[in-house]
Amino acid sequence: MISQKFKKIGWHLDHSYMRLPQDFFTKQIPIKVSNPKLILFNKNLFKSLDLDKYDLDKETWTEIFSGNYIPQNAEPIAQAYAGHQFGHFAELGDGRAVLLGEQINSQGERFDIQLKGSGQTLYSRRGDGRAALGPMLREYIISEAMHALRIPTTRSLAVVTTGESVLRDEVLPGAILTRVAQSHIRVGTFQFASALNDIEKLKALADYTIERHYPDCKEHANVYLSFLIEVINRQASLIAQWMHAGFIHGVMNTDNMAISGETIDYGPCAFMDRYHPETVFSSIDQQGRYAYRNQPPIAQWNLARFAETLLPLIHKDLDKSIELASESVNSFSDQFQTAWLSGMRKKIGCFNKEVNDIDLINDLLMLLQKNKVDYTLTLRHLSSDAIAKDPIFNDVAFRNWYATWIKRIQNQSEGEANSKTMMLKNNPAVIPRNYLVEKALSNAMTSQDYTLCNSFIEALLNPYQEAKIFSEPPTDQDSSYRTFCGT
Ligand code: AMP
Ligand code: MG
Repeated sequence: MISQKFKKIGWHLDHSYMRLPQDFFTKQIPIKVSNPKLILFNKNLFKSLDLDKYDLDKETWTEIFSGNYIPQNAEPIAQAYAGHQFGHFAELGDGRAVLLGEQINSQGERFDIQLKGSGQTLYSRRGDGRAALGPMLREYIISEAMHALRIPTTRSLAVVTTGESVLRDEVLPGAILTRVAQSHIRVGTFQFASALNDIEKLKALADYTIERHYPDCKEHANVYLSFLIEVINRQASLIAQWMHAGFIHGVMNTDNMAISGETIDYGPCAFMDRYHPETVFSSIDQQGRYAYRNQPPIAQWNLARFAETLLPLIHKDLDKSIELASESVNSFSDQFQTAWLSGMRKKIGCFNKEVNDIDLINDLLMLLQKNKVDYTLTLRHLSSDAIAKDPIFNDVAFRNWYATWIKRIQNQSEGEANSKTMMLKNNPAVIPRNYLVEKALSNAMTSQDYTLCNSFIEALLNPYQEAKIFSEPPTDQDSSYRTFCGT
């Protein structure tokens, strides 16, 4: 019955990843669940994937998103990868996810459709292959918020509850997230390929990835070097955007860095309320390795691991290869700095570049830190009279800064009004604040009440519009706030 319906819908699944050598994946059917219920569903994304062509009923989609029913032309696989986790190398792989295939929409765009929490695979090690509801809701909310903030990210198509429990520190409701990504190729996938010690297999992965994400590199004299440079470029831009938004990924292991340049694997991530560069939320990050301010150098460290895997392809003389790769990895800092400065200029309303801008921005950040004020809201208020009512305006040093800044803005040919308009488009009013995320998750988990979850998501989809309660910072800034991986 279902399969008849499914034949009719515009589901164009390809399986290009399976044309890689077999080491890179294993076939894996999702393990069925007892009582799936569809609780979140992303209509817009659904449309953009051309999955809305026919009117399937909710039950059918619930079966599909739970892994209980496999679409006709899906070929589910678990992908192999490795990775440095908190600096330590490990063989990993999809231990609780399967890729159904790659959906190609009418624009010819290709997207991985992955079920996360779909049961054990060959790579599960001691894990149960499942996911708890809280972290899957969290990934849905935060990834969609990131997308609305124009930050490259994997997307979330649906969340189903499984009707089964998962055992973590406590017994929790189980869930499956349908994740959509440009691909799931990670720095860790290259580390896995490199560990195979077979240059043909490494080359197969590199060529495949270049074709899929960086086809322009094929025009360059040194294809693999230009690939490395482009990956570095995209990461520099991505991390700059995280910093602009006050986003802390929380677990920047090399297996959680996508070669496509999308943010991937929302675990213990969170947005900073009060500005402090050392902010870290993740309970497992005791040393602060992945703290806010460490994100750029950690990205560079990860990219050095990526560059190492490409050495045999960049040049046949290893020393020359190391020299070329190092030069590229070293360029990350400058690229990051350029991307960061350019975004910060927009946030404070500068159209043109002046040499003192960097000091102006750093002085502002220091003042935010000193006054322990909300990062997002203070920047938002800067573009209106609201700033005069903020507590930071009582600080003489801040008022001096403000006077310098307003002069800088007024001196531009575009004028103050245009600056402020630009600022409103670059400083969100609504971000997924921790206390709101927690409240939405708690309502959902304790009383299956998704009202707050849905209205919060609605507000997050228009982050540059004020949205009453969703724009408010927390009343008591809880510096002991912790996030958990929830694996
Ligand atoms: P993550 O911390 O989500 O990036 O996951 C790191 C590694 O652990 C990946 O290989 C995951 O597939 C695996 N993993 C995480 N949670 C589970 C689980 N519940 N069961 C099996 N494998 C898991
Ligand atoms: Mg991961």
